[in-house]
Amino acid sequence: LLRAEGIHKSFGERAVLRGVDVDLARHQVVALIGASGSGKSTLLRCLNLLEPIDDGQIFLDDEDISDPRVDANRVRARFGAVFQSYNLFPHLSVLDNVTLASRVVHRMPRREAEARAFDLLERIGLAGLARQHPDRLSGGQQQRAAIVRAIATDPEVLLLDEITSALDPELVGEVLELVRRLADDGATILMATHEMAFARDVADRVVFLDAGTIVEQGPPAEVLVAPREPRTRAFLARFT
Ligand code: ATP
Ligand code: MG
Repeated sequence: LLRAEGIHKSFGERAVLRGVDVDLARHQVVALIGASGSGKSTLLRCLNLLEPIDDGQIFLDDEDISDPRVDANRVRARFGAVFQSYNLFPHLSVLDNVTLASRVVHRMPRREAEARAFDLLERIGLAGLARQHPDRLSGGQQQRAAIVRAIATDPEVLLLDEITSALDPELVGEVLELVRRLADDGATILMATHEMAFARDVADRVVFLDAGTIVEQGPPAEVLVAPREPRTRAFLARFT
């Protein structure tokens, strides 16, 4: 579904991605792990065209979305993305946050968008907070609402960038539980995460990024449990 080949990205002199290949099949969950500064966020931002790449190609289905002639907004509408924090617009209610893209980008009538939003919020127990502004929600509720907002438009690929790392530990579980449900329901997810236990449980494949290159990738039982590369072992040692 999503395939990137030879992605290079520098900020000034600093080469952040140095020839990265990623492949994400439909319904697959891939966990992207790596130290702070290894390029995880940059890679996710390049994939949905939030950041221009210097070299390489990105295919969504069979369309080369890295072609400068493609309409980046149209492509971005096929992705859902959630970041570490500040995902919701503070001046809009939860309901308006969730329905905004459906109404504005996908031109869905308000009633239909709101019915859908209520349905999604209901499933995660947040329908009662739909009319509230984000600052009335806990961090965990905000991130769950942000995930609902990201899936409200039925994106083909969900990009999640350390969505639990700004949360108090007791709120992490409820957010990961929602991601697990989406994965079980067949979502296609690429997630940067430091939650190794979650990656081991939920991911089909783990990709270890170090200094802008993929050092090792494979099933979690290999990469996380019996890594072949010394650099992967050194990285994982910090989590035990
Ligand atoms: P973390 O685990 O801390 O989120 P990361 O793996 O997501 O780290 P990135 O955020 O992709 O890492 O950053 C990789 C490198 O690129 C860092 O050295 C960072 O300073 C640099 N970088 C990222 N965005 C920019 C930018 N817009 N301008 C300049 N440098 C940037
Ligand atoms: Mg990051």
